[in-house]
Amino acid sequence: MHGLSPFEQYLARLDRAADLLELSAAERNALQEPQQSVEEALEVELGNGETKHFPAYRIQFNNARGPFKGGIRFHPAADLNEVKALAAAMAIKCAVMDLPLGGAKGGVTIEPKEYPREDIHRIARAFARTMAPYIGVDNDIPAPDVYTNAEIMAVMLDEYEQFCGKSEPGAFTGKPLALGGSHGRDTATAQGGVFVLDAYATAKNLGSGALSVAIQGFGNAGYNAACLLAERGYTIVAVSDSKGGVYRKKGLDPREVYRWKHEGDSVMSMYCEGSVCDTKQLSDDGAKILSEKEILECECDILIPAALDGQITRENAERVRARAVLELANGPTSPEADRILKERGIDVIPDVLANAGGVTVSYFEWVQNRQQLYWSEHEVKARLKERMEEAFAKVYEVAGAKEITMRDAAFLLGVERILEAMRARGRI
Ligand code: NAD
Repeated sequence: MHGLSPFEQYLARLDRAADLLELSAAERNALQEPQQSVEEALEVELGNGETKHFPAYRIQFNNARGPFKGGIRFHPAADLNEVKALAAAMAIKCAVMDLPLGGAKGGVTIEPKEYPREDIHRIARAFARTMAPYIGVDNDIPAPDVYTNAEIMAVMLDEYEQFCGKSEPGAFTGKPLALGGSHGRDTATAQGGVFVLDAYATAKNLGSGALSVAIQGFGNAGYNAACLLAERGYTIVAVSDSKGGVYRKKGLDPREVYRWKHEGDSVMSMYCEGSVCDTKQLSDDGAKILSEKEILECECDILIPAALDGQITRENAERVRARAVLELANGPTSPEADRILKERGIDVIPDVLANAGGVTVSYFEWVQNRQQLYWSEHEVKARLKERMEEAFAKVYEVAGAKEITMRDAAFLLGVERILEAMRARGRI
């Protein structure tokens, strides 16, 4: 049986926050639908001469607190429902972080692995051209998301600037440094998550040195988190990618795993060549190979989903053995799983807080672009630390005071701040 769709999950969480805040019907309605949904078909002439159409979306959820802000995803599952849910989550996330920004998200329904780089650039340009009337430095600022990156932002900015006939670096964030990107943007999501985890460990008196961590996903968020946590003295006991994972109780060196992954094709390449694994080496190292889902159930103190949404569900939440979950991925835990984890006393540090380092440094990038004055890596990191610790402290305080989960506390805080801005504008 299927669970809730991504947007239904958002609505379920909104409902909980609305009940806790005792909102009126008008206030509830204000955050149930996006302000504007742009749906287009991108017409793109590919390198082989063929013309193809790609569904494309820009969902502008809410701008009461400032310009719309949110990434652009190139993915086969990027449909209206998913992009809407991600846009809503961005609005909540920016408000939880107290950034002067609203929430948006973009998507193109495409399997990017099937297209050469030149075609991906054509599709990126088509997206920027088509969406140009809706975006802009004071209006809506896109950024990278799944399967888009700094290179794609550079191409989109170039196309956008041709459209508006002037330099406008602040219209996109997550750009390369050469085009006004910010120091620290590439590791910002992981770094933000690490600051939050440190703050959580301190609040709970856990002592970070002794904590073991399992990370699902070994891309930008997962790999960087593994490196930063290992440097901070956490023990990375398990990592995984789309092929499977490795568990080693005494700990893994993330950089070594990375080397193996890139020499082979997976984190499992440390012990396996294709499907053949070195059982002696595995047993000598006290290690084992994990299937895609087993990593979520392995023995560890902190579980970090850093890959996909919909990973911890009512089917497997009973088997999670971590004492806390740090959500670096967007939407990895379903509302049903939230309930089960809560009953089992497992804390969830929610995505709208845990992975907000990315949008926070995107905000810093936008600020730097607007003032044309650039900060050092040290300055970016210090400002990020301050923001993440403040946001964690607030969420933790609300959760404690109201005896609710950190997810409910973050939603409550985000919803309350957005509504405050909407009331001030006379929109409700
Ligand atoms: P990425 O593409 O760099 O990495 C994704 C990783 O997940 C890859 O290692 C891939 O092999 C792995 N993966 C895919 N399917 C898997 C599976 N079934 N099991 C285990 N691993 C699997 O993406 P990313 O930027 O690291 O993003 C990961 C998550 O973090 C997404 O949910 C994204 O929305 C979220 N996020 C990222 C950022 C950011 O700045 N990068 C910011 C906020 C949220």
